[in-house]
Amino acid sequence: MAEKRWQTIQVKHCDHVGCDVKLQALVILPPERLPDQPPRVEAHRCSKGLQCSSLTKPTCVWAGTNPNYDPFADAD
Ligand code: SF4
Repeated sequence: MAEKRWQTIQVKHCDHVGCDVKLQALVILPPERLPDQPPRVEAHRCSKGLQCSSLTKPTCVWAGTNPNYDPFADAD
C-alpha cells in the first residue's frame, strides 16, 4: 500500500517571521510491490504557515495564501 508522509526538504531563515522554518513536501511513496516506481510529491507547506497566515501581512506560496510570492525564489 502506498504511504503518504511530510518530509522536510529544506530549513531556511524567513524574514517574515524572523526565525528558521522547515519547507516540507507531502511525498507519496510507492507500495512495496512496486519498488522501482519513484516517489511523487503531492503538496508543499511551511512549518510556520499556519501561524504566519494569522499575521496581518499577506504571506507566501508556502502558506498557500499568496501564490505570487516565494520569499526564497531568488535565494540559492
Ligand atoms: S509561510 Fe512563507 S512567509 Fe510564512 S514563515 Fe513560511 S516561508 Fe515565511
